[in-house]
Parts: sequence; structure tokens; C-alpha cells
Amino acid sequence: QQQDDYALMESVARYFQQQLRQHANSQKAIDYLKGRGLSGDIVKHWEIGYAPSEWDGVLKTFGKEHERVKQLIDLKLVNQNDRGKTYDFFRDRIMFPIRDRRGRVIGFGGRVLEGDGPKYLNSPETRIFHKGHELFGFYQAKQSQRHLDKVIIVEGYMDVVALSQFDINIATAALGTATTPEHLSMLMRATSHIVCCYDGDRAGRDAAWRALENALPALKDGVKLTFLFLPDGEDPDTMVRKVGKDAFMNLLDDALPLSRFFFESLLKEHEVGTPEGKVALKAAAQPLIDQVLGDSQKAMLQEELAKHVGEYDRFRLQQDMQQANQAS
Ligand code: ATP
Ligand code: MN
Ligand code: MN
Ligand code: MN
Repeated sequence: QQQDDYALMESVARYFQQQLRQHANSQKAIDYLKGRGLSGDIVKHWEIGYAPSEWDGVLKTFGKEHERVKQLIDLKLVNQNDRGKTYDFFRDRIMFPIRDRRGRVIGFGGRVLEGDGPKYLNSPETRIFHKGHELFGFYQAKQSQRHLDKVIIVEGYMDVVALSQFDINIATAALGTATTPEHLSMLMRATSHIVCCYDGDRAGRDAAWRALENALPALKDGVKLTFLFLPDGEDPDTMVRKVGKDAFMNLLDDALPLSRFFFESLLKEHEVGTPEGKVALKAAAQPLIDQVLGDSQKAMLQEELAKHVGEYDRFRLQQDMQQANQAS
């Protein structure tokens, strides 16, 4: 069954690619990709395709038998409404096939050309597609280099694709979900330096903090986790096109270490000029530090925390001593 699922997904990926070349209405998709600055080679490399605007393109091509239609529904390539009517899930979208770490097509991301509907539509979870465990571009990054000095986590498909056009083949994207501990564990098995590089907007900054929280339980000793914050309004796609490969690589090298991002964020929320502020900082930081997997990483953060709340600890010591004196 599963073997067969992968084969069908692979065929559908080929079909979308073929539609980009052959479909009567594919010129607007080609123009869109050109407008985004993508070369023909890069479109081929990422196997980018086009889902035509018909309701039954996939259905007619692959759903000739009842069993197949059932499989297409299970794989969420075809929808079935309450009245039993079936129709294609992806219509009139630029298609990005998502491969798992072994290179098998397990799902798709689809972008609208312009206008209506959600900007991106991702395959829902299926028996072969588990978003929390997969990263777009990871397979290709592993293919391009045997040893990965570093890996970048970005937000979008277009970010991964654009970076690769600038010969930066180390980017991966979570699939419309937050970066999970499983994502990080998977990356930490492949590299010892992970750079989180989210968009320079509110959503991107929030995503970075969530990634940090999710990373801590997976954070092994010897792994460097850093955070690159792009200027407001930029994402890795627009940024690399503006500054080019070398400058972008330099930005990666200068990314904020985990400990700096951790304390700078917490210190923004907690004013440590007062004992109350120190208590609050300690209360916010300690549960996060306790989760850290690697002993050295944990000790490093603990020591840093002590620098900020050391006064508070002395303050509490005085109180405890006073209480002890009163009791005696
Ligand atoms: P583009 O450059 O094509 O406009 P983007 O990747 O920069 O796209 P963002 O708005 O920054 O788009 O969103 C980042 C990522 O979040 C997307 O690549 C996609 O994976 C996911 N995403 C965005 N919008 C949606 C949506 N409406 N539904 C599901 N996922 C989405
Ligand atoms: Mn964004
Ligand atoms: Mn973008
Ligand atoms: Mn973006």
C-alpha cells in the first residue's frame, strides 16, 4: 500500500511538472515564475509544476479505477464533498513537491498565482505525510553536500528555492507549521550548526521565539543554534536577491547566538532593576532552561541567568536569614 502511495505521489508530481510545460493555460504560471526571478534550471531542479484550474485534472488522469480514486482521496489529492462529489484538491496553483529525507514525494505545497484564496495550500496530513517531521528542502540539501556545515531554517518554499538559485543549498522550510522538536532533532543529526532565519516581520519574530522554545528539549551539547533577524519587510528570498550570496553568507555567520536571543528577549519583558523584575525573569527563564537536553548548554544558560538575577538570590538569602533569626 505505502509503496504504491509513493509511486502515485511521484506520478502526480510528474503530472504537475508536465502541465507547466504543456497545459494550454500554463503561460501565466510560467510568467509568474519568471516574475519571481526563477530560472528555468531552478524550476527544473525543484520540480516545480502547475496544477491547472480544472476540477478534474488529477482525477481524470489518475482516477480511472474506483480503488485509485479512493487512494487519491486518502492522499488528499482529491476532495470528496458531502454529496460524494469528487474534485481536485489543488487547482490553478504553482506546485512544489515535498520529498521526505529518503527522497520520496509525500506531499505538495501550492501557491496561488494571484488573487483569491489562501496564498499557500499545503497537503493535509495523510498516512505518508506528517508535517511535524518533514522539512522542505532537507533531502535536496543532503544531496548537494555529504557533510552540512550548517543548515538554515526559513519560513517558505520560495525562500528555499531562491537561496538555492544563489548557490546556497542548505535551506529547509517547515511546512506551514511551527518548527517542531522533531524537526530540530532531525537537523541536529545532520549538522552541528542550525541558523533560524525567519521573515523580518512580527510573525517571523514570533516564529523565532517559538522555534527557540521547541529547540531547547532537543538541544544537544556541541550544537550551535543561531538566529538571523532580517530587516522589517524582508524574507530570505527578497534579501538574497538584494545583497547576493556572499553578503547573505556573512549575515548567517553574524547571526545571534541562542543565549543572546534568549536573554535579550526575556530582558525586554522583565525589568531586572527591581527585585520583582528579577523574580519574574527567573520565573520565566528557569522552566525553559530546565528543559535543555545538553548539560553544557544548560549550564551555560544557567550561569548567564545567575548573572542577571544574582542580586535577587542575595536578596532572598537576606530574607531567609531574617526569617530564620526571627524563628529562633
Ligand atoms: P511568497 O514569497 O510566495 O509570497 P512566502 O513564503 O514569503 O511566500 P509568507 O507569507 O512569508 O510567504 O509565509 C511563509 C510560509 O508560511 C509560506 O511559505 C507557507 O509555507 C506558509 N503560509 C503562508 N500563508 C499560508 C496560508 N494561507 N496557509 C498555509 N500556509 C501558509
Ligand atoms: Mn512572512
Ligand atoms: Mn516571500
Ligand atoms: Mn515570507
